[in-house]
Amino acid sequence: MTACPVNGCTATVNHGHLMCRRHWRRVPKAIQARVWETWRTVSRMARDRAIPARAFGEARTLHGIATREAIDAVEAKEKDESHER
Ligand SMILES: [Zn+2]
Repeated sequence: MTACPVNGCTATVNHGHLMCRRHWRRVPKAIQARVWETWRTVSRMARDRAIPARAFGEARTLHGIATREAIDAVEAKEKDESHER
């Protein structure tokens, strides 16, 4: 288990998940879908030795971008709320 990547969150994350359940639920659906889609591509390519290293690297980059967007989206929401308090 690893720690949730969202700033200030101390929850642990189950294997195979990006962030804790509470935070994952706050990720906009479109970004959630992109995270899963890019992850599926990466794991499919990881099993296929015929995939060129460059294509695999690009798929991993796209997954990294989607992951970053998911974290940023949640952190932006949390930040808005802390201003309201
Ligand atoms: Zn969290």
